Amino acid sequence: MTQAHEDPCAHCEEMMQPYLDHILTEAERVEAEHHLDECDWCRRRYRFEESLRVYVRQAVAEPMSDGLKQKLASLRIPLN
Ligand SMILES: [Zn+2]
Repeated sequence: MTQAHEDPCAHCEEMMQPYLDHILTEAERVEAEHHLDECDWCRRRYRFEESLRVYVRQAVAEPMSDGLKQKLASLRIPLN
């Protein structure tokens, strides 16, 4: 028996990227958050996607953090 009703997770899948980009309308955002509240699978997927984005953003925008640069600089042998 097939359900005529649309799979809420498929809909959530569609909203995942725009949700992460914060380009959903208020109503869509509320709908997405409501689904994330109820659906363990989508919540986990969302967390994964979000952490992936944070990682990618850091890797692209900030290849080396200031702290790491300083650490590397302090390790460098003075040439003078
Ligand atoms: Zn779901």
